[in-house]
Amino acid sequence: MTAVLVSEVGPRDGLQSISRTMPLEAKKAWIRAEAEAGVREIEVGSFVPPALLPQMADTAELVAFARTVPGLAVAVLVPNLKGAERGIAAGAHKMSIPFSMSETHSIRNVRKDHPAMVAEIRAIADRVRQEPAETRPHFEVGLATAFGCTIEGPVEEEQVVRLAEAAIEAGAAEVGLSDTTGYANPAQVKRLVRKVKAAVGPKRLNTLHLHNTRGLGLANALAGLEEGITTLDSSLGGLGGCPAAPGASGNIVTEDLAFMLAAMGIETGIDLPKLLAVRAILEEALPGEPLYGFTPDAGLPLGFGGRA
Ligand code: ZN
Repeated sequence: MTAVLVSEVGPRDGLQSISRTMPLEAKKAWIRAEAEAGVREIEVGSFVPPALLPQMADTAELVAFARTVPGLAVAVLVPNLKGAERGIAAGAHKMSIPFSMSETHSIRNVRKDHPAMVAEIRAIADRVRQEPAETRPHFEVGLATAFGCTIEGPVEEEQVVRLAEAAIEAGAAEVGLSDTTGYANPAQVKRLVRKVKAAVGPKRLNTLHLHNTRGLGLANALAGLEEGITTLDSSLGGLGGCPAAPGASGNIVTEDLAFMLAAMGIETGIDLPKLLAVRAILEEALPGEPLYGFTPDAGLPLGFGGRA
């Protein structure tokens, strides 16, 4: 079956949701070890003001470090044009801006309504285009709360489609669908992926960002794969959540996702025994922090090759 890109978001989504700050050297060790285990893309941090998220204050240093890791695509989250300027200056390969499909969530999270967010996306896209082609980062818009919102409840699918079109029209290279709140179910994932791909073009939606809040994370991932999704965000040990969406904790677990894909014969480039060993870095740097995942506890099945 076709290759899938597992995009590790733990150093950003995971670490921003816990109050402790992981030391820079531990973050570097995590990124290096996970890349050595075959993970090809890592979101290393977020260019939010350090006063808001002190855990992310070292993102520029992490980008500089991660760029020295062979073959690794270095991704960052940017909340606005100012963050994008910092991302470009640091040399990130990929920048994602979260665009909340729930307008209430957007106003509460970044104090911008939908028209203001589309204007911000346009400003970033224009800025990105000024960069020479060799250093120009890939600019993606993450359609947050696309499957439901902890403040507004259900989010109309037609609204997600309309805002996805607006983001592409404003100059984003692609959009991704984010289940920020862990509300999605597989039927909904299939329907929304199909609708958004139909609206913006099949190549403009490749990524799903899923949380395992209600245990449906891997089922949702599989539903996305069946609709042509090729990039899945996940977090080592399921570390992660969204500070603005109370109750939404834990991205889908990288170890379990990599096991599922390998067991299905889908190529990811990940060496599973090596990946499982990376957990020790989190356990040591964040003692007592809850880590999730079935495969790390149960171990790999007897006779399992371990490499997809
Ligand atoms: Zn998330």
